[in-house]
Amino acid sequence: MKKPFVDKAQLEAIAAQYPTPFHLYDEHGIRENARRLRAAFSWNPGFREYFAVKATPTPAILKLLKEEGCGCDCSSLAELLMAERCGITGEDIVFSSNDTPAEEFQLAHQLGAIINLDDLTMVDYLERAIGCVPEKVCCRYNPGGIFTLGQTREGFQVMDDPGSAKYGMTRDQLSEAFRLLAAKGAKEFGIHAFLASNTLSNEYYPTLARILFRLAVELQEETGVHITFIDLSGGIGVPYRPEQPANDIAAIGEGVRQAYEEILVSAGMGDVALYAELGRFMLAPYGHLVTRAIHEKHIYKEYIGVDACACDLMRPAMYGAYHHITVMGKEDAPCDHRYDVVGGLCENNDKFAIDRMLPKIDLGDLLVIHDTGAHGHSMGYNYNGRLRSAELLLHEDGSVTCIRRAETIEDYFSTVVW
Ligand SMILES: *Cc1c(COP(=O)(O)O)cnc(C)c1O
Repeated sequence: MKKPFVDKAQLEAIAAQYPTPFHLYDEHGIRENARRLRAAFSWNPGFREYFAVKATPTPAILKLLKEEGCGCDCSSLAELLMAERCGITGEDIVFSSNDTPAEEFQLAHQLGAIINLDDLTMVDYLERAIGCVPEKVCCRYNPGGIFTLGQTREGFQVMDDPGSAKYGMTRDQLSEAFRLLAAKGAKEFGIHAFLASNTLSNEYYPTLARILFRLAVELQEETGVHITFIDLSGGIGVPYRPEQPANDIAAIGEGVRQAYEEILVSAGMGDVALYAELGRFMLAPYGHLVTRAIHEKHIYKEYIGVDACACDLMRPAMYGAYHHITVMGKEDAPCDHRYDVVGGLCENNDKFAIDRMLPKIDLGDLLVIHDTGAHGHSMGYNYNGRLRSAELLLHEDGSVTCIRRAETIEDYFSTVVW
């Protein structure tokens, strides 16, 4: 059972002040989850979560996470500038980008960010861009092939395809990059890899950790560089479907700890700090897209038209992603109606749900679309002249603040040359 973090009365009160659609975030849930993550890795003194800004690039959220000890993982100029404006600079930023323009390396360096290089050719490119190589630097690894965890709890399989992903360096390139960087003056080295996305398995991080820890031991022996941190990146997922099991972050932390003891501590590398760049895990469950049913249509199928569209949440249209829907006030009603819940884009993939069994929806009902706190508003766009919605933050005391206003038609026209 997925339950919204607000009830109908609360939501109607919010909607009376801020018209639907809007994204609503739950400060309490975000903080509690960030604390669970921190506790799970507290055995590693250098542990740091660098929130993947692209998931929810909203300053109020970045500041809230900063209060919980998180830094920022940025991958573009705008994300770097946003971190800076939130007072997040220096080694509180990891700059993990690819196909990077020189000016972005320059800003990252100027801010003192830890730079993660996506390719061997980036060593020279970075040096030309900033006039040196940084003392502390990271390289992204791509082992190629297919990454699997085999069968996991409840039969969910984790599989991803690093071999056809554009990111990272091969094993040989990684050695070469480390040697080259060391020759140019780098002193502290890190390894980064992101091998599978939205994993629902407590085994993903420990498995990735084993790969990177063994690699770190090898590379330190082979190249003589000092590896001081390993960045496990993102990829811990959330259960979008109600029947899916949630990850247990404490178990994940413990799995990584065992790998750390067995491999790094045994090799005399017990001082390596662990970094994470989680995005989805930090925010997705703590965001709702709130929308209202404005039309119903009965043709070959039953349609409910809502006032949000794919411009507010692209994942269902783009990936066929499942997002659970709660019809507010009808949480306990039988799901005896089959609907396509659709937005108004002139695009037939603008459907939040297809053939979804829901309680009978009446016009005016508020719908909560779940798990939209990450890769939700951030993937918004303006197709069909749709305006991006507001973002609201529900505070721990029950009050609500607007943390990004809805776009206006003036915003939409602001770049036009008439
Ligand atoms: C997208 C991304 C993340 C975050 O991924 P999630 O699946 O949201 O945890 C972390 N690091 C990098 C480099 C990314 O591109």
